[in-house]
Amino acid sequence: MEIDGKTRTCGLIGNPVEHTLSPMIHNTLAKLSGHNLVYVPFPVEPGSLDKAIAGAGALNLLGLNVTVPYKSEVIRSLREIDDLARNIGAVNTLVKTDDGYKGYNTDMEGLYRAMTSEGVKIAGEQIVLLGAGGAARAVAYLCAVKGADKVYMLNRTLSKAESVAEEVNRAMGREAIIPMITEDYVKLTAGKYLAIQGTSVGLAPHTEDVVIADEAFYDKIHTGFDLIYNPWETKFMRLVSSHGGKAYNGLKMLMYQGIIAYELWNQISVSDESVQIVYEKLKGYFA
Ligand code: NAP
Repeated sequence: MEIDGKTRTCGLIGNPVEHTLSPMIHNTLAKLSGHNLVYVPFPVEPGSLDKAIAGAGALNLLGLNVTVPYKSEVIRSLREIDDLARNIGAVNTLVKTDDGYKGYNTDMEGLYRAMTSEGVKIAGEQIVLLGAGGAARAVAYLCAVKGADKVYMLNRTLSKAESVAEEVNRAMGREAIIPMITEDYVKLTAGKYLAIQGTSVGLAPHTEDVVIADEAFYDKIHTGFDLIYNPWETKFMRLVSSHGGKAYNGLKMLMYQGIIAYELWNQISVSDESVQIVYEKLKGYFA
């Protein structure tokens, strides 16, 4: 792409940002759609977030993605926040407004589009959600909003699962999320569950790690969705598959959160053909 006087800039703020795949997503989309737009990573040092947002506004940056560790902290620097992002308590996308930025959470809708594209449904399901961190909290909202029957939220630190459950259940007006300490997975009644792996356990280079190693657990799982995409196939996914379940990694979630952000920045709908091209390109990174 030729950068000229009308080129708009989008980017990613976080720390670290060096290994991000987001530039691949957005610069591919800009090329495919013919937008005069460039996407770059911006590492933001601790203590500099407010200045980074003010500077982005002053430089008229069209939009930003926000990653670890700033997804919650960034909220205080925003002029406006989308209701869903406020409920989740985390923002991963900023869209330029007249006097600042409006915050959105596209992680949740990204996961939903990823699951839908694989034919995985949430409504009416019994779900085991591993983790209670930032990502799992958004997943808990997603599952509750999309009509999951029950979500058993298993976490190493019970108090974190309890506080997410309390918040989501209050917002939903029903006991959708049941907090549990991870070891209590043995108490899950027989039956088939959709399992969503939302912890950081198993992330490269610790590819042989898994939150629940007991093979008996995986007999209860019909589908496993890992939010991790590096490695391509996690130990959790291998265990789900070897017990007859379907297993998916988090690459499509990553891709769709980016696609939704791109749609917000440019007020367009990305075509299925473009989605496929972006996905193949991302997949190529892991080949
Ligand atoms: P986070 O807020 O730091 O939460 C980490 C979670 O992992 C917590 O539940 C934590 O449990 C648990 N955990 C960490 N180490 C553990 C261990 N040794 N044993 C048991 N549990 C452990 O992280 P996050 O932002 O939620 O991200 C979680 C994962 O999702 C990461 O791997 C991230 O890459 C992935 N993710 C993917 C996408 C995507 O687009 N595909 C988007 C967002 C996140 P405690 O509460 O007990 O500490």
